[in-house]
Amino acid sequence: MLAAGCADVISNLTAVLDWKLAHRLKAEEYSSFAAVLAKTAADQVLENRALIRPGLEEAAWVTVKSLVVSGVSMAVAGSSRPASGAEHLLSHALDRIAPGAAMHGEQVGIGTILMMQLHGGDWKMVRDALKEIGAPTTVKELNIPPKRFIEALTTCHTLRPDRYTILGESGLTREAAEKLCKATGVL
Ligand SMILES: [Zn+2]
Repeated sequence: MLAAGCADVISNLTAVLDWKLAHRLKAEEYSSFAAVLAKTAADQVLENRALIRPGLEEAAWVTVKSLVVSGVSMAVAGSSRPASGAEHLLSHALDRIAPGAAMHGEQVGIGTILMMQLHGGDWKMVRDALKEIGAPTTVKELNIPPKRFIEALTTCHTLRPDRYTILGESGLTREAAEKLCKATGVL
């Protein structure tokens, strides 16, 4: 659960990139203060990732502190925007398609690898950090059939039309989704 909580905070990295994109393309209201707070929470986890281990008290401190900072960023923004982008849409789609298979943070972590690759960011750093804290980095670890995962990845952009993300209005084609999963080693 610590690993899942930390993965949820690491997802702020792509959530903020999606928010910036929506600000540029859709003139969505943007708070740089909220964005910095969300990013700081993620950085806090990344900087202390060696401490995220089961049975270590520091792990609970790092996780809870960064989750609280993440929560404050949402309070400042007045919405979940700084902590919820396309990686969360994917997780919500997975909740519908494969309910109860994996934890929210675990699904979101995999989504962060994928969306970071689409943003052209350092997805390998995200993957390595998730691995180090003990969070899943492959669909196999989520116990979700690959077909179902691709279904979620190609349809998740429809869940919240008000939340513009890197997936755009039409989302990923099946071919692009499969390529993305293969390129990142998620599938
Ligand atoms: Zn979340």
